[in-house]
This record gives sequence, structure tokens and C-alpha cells, in this order.
Amino acid sequence: MQETPADAPRRLTAAPGDAANRYNPRNMVKEIVFATNNPHKLSEVRRILGDRVKVHSLSEIGCHDEIPETADTLAGNALIKARWVKEKYGYDCFADDTGLMVDALGGAPGVYTARYAGENCTPADNVAKLLDVLRGETDRKARFSTVIALVRREEGEELMEGTVEGEIACEPRGTDGFGYDPIFIPENRGVTFAQMGPDAKNAISHRGRAVAKLAARLLS
Ligand code: IMP
Repeated sequence: MQETPADAPRRLTAAPGDAANRYNPRNMVKEIVFATNNPHKLSEVRRILGDRVKVHSLSEIGCHDEIPETADTLAGNALIKARWVKEKYGYDCFADDTGLMVDALGGAPGVYTARYAGENCTPADNVAKLLDVLRGETDRKARFSTVIALVRREEGEELMEGTVEGEIACEPRGTDGFGYDPIFIPENRGVTFAQMGPDAKNAISHRGRAVAKLAARLLS
């Protein structure tokens, strides 16, 4: 059996019939690290990729680092996270960063969407602040954008983007999803992301669209 070449991608689990866990391209199953521990994001992405790709979270590879998100673009932050895992842990990896851009706020909160209500704020704080800032505003147009950075040892770095247009509701509705889902109404739907099931959200969402591009790259 072939020995693992020094520059072969690190394997996360043994492929079937690959008892010694040695590198053997014929036995490769698609495996990748998603640089997140967010259970909602993990379940959305695993649901889209199904059993075509085995997705491992940061904690599953023993990474408990606070990865700094210091870039001023979504792509920059996604690249920081994916490169961190590849460089420190040696695994092929993808990371996402998402922003909510509100027209009446000149595109804010944008890259600061996670920290809109302050450094250690909760999703509920963010929702409350956005509703407060937009109180009485009639132009409620907004879009979610996700950038995925895919960083692989053999193929290098790639960026994929997904966007969904919509508007900000006047009050929270629905219990599904996470983050700003209870106040984001995707275009032509009349209900918030939090009022849709996960499959309906994934079919049109920013992350769903970016992950469809990711799947095409991983499976090509
Ligand atoms: P990040 O990509 O984890 O940095 O997310 C940025 C911010 O957007 C966080 O406040 C998330 O809760 C929020 N967010 C990311 N994706 C979604 C989504 O699909 N729906 C609603 N909020 C989201």
C-alpha cells in the first residue's frame, strides 16, 4: 500500500477499506472542515451537502481557538478563518462570513452584522437594535450576502458568493432559523426566514446559494 506523501491532504477519517488510514486517492471520500461551531450554520450546510461531503466542525478537529475576524470585508474574514485551519491544523477547509446590508442605513451593518449591538451582544440584541433604528422608516429594502472561502492544499484558494434580496419586517415573526431570520422577509415571499422550514430557506438563502457553488466545486 502506498505511504502517505508528505504533501498529501490530511485525512480526517479512514476511508472504507483503508484500515491503516494511509493516503490512497482511489478511496478518497470528500471530507472538509467548516470553520465554525455555529450549530445552525452546520445543520444548514450539512442538510444542503447531504451525504456527498462529510463536514467537520472546528470542535470536531480539536480547534477551540478564537479566530480573529479583523478584515473589513466579508471575503477577508472568510479567508482569515479558512487559512487559519489550513495553516494551523493542515486540513482543507471552508469558512463563511455573512453580512446584512440595509439600504436606508447606507449598507450597514454589513461586515459588522454580528456585532451590530456591541461586542458581546446576543442575536436578540441585534434584532432589537435594527428594529429600533428603522422605526418609522418606509424604505426597508435589505439583502443578505454570504461569502465562502474555500482553502485547499492542492487546489489553492477560491471565493464563492450568495445573495438574497428582501426587506426588514416591522416586528419579529417566526421561530425557525437564527440570527436576523425573524425580521428578514425574502423578496416575493411575504414571510420571514424564521417562518419557513429549513429546506425552503436553504433553497433561496444567501448561504444556500453560496453552498450550492461550494458543492459544485467540491464535487467537480
Ligand atoms: P457570521 O457569518 O457568523 O459572522 O454572521 C454575521 C451575523 O449575521 C451574525 O449576527 C449572524 O447571526 C447573522 N447571520 C448569519 N447568517 C444568517 C442567516 O442565515 N440568517 C439570519 N442571520 C444570519
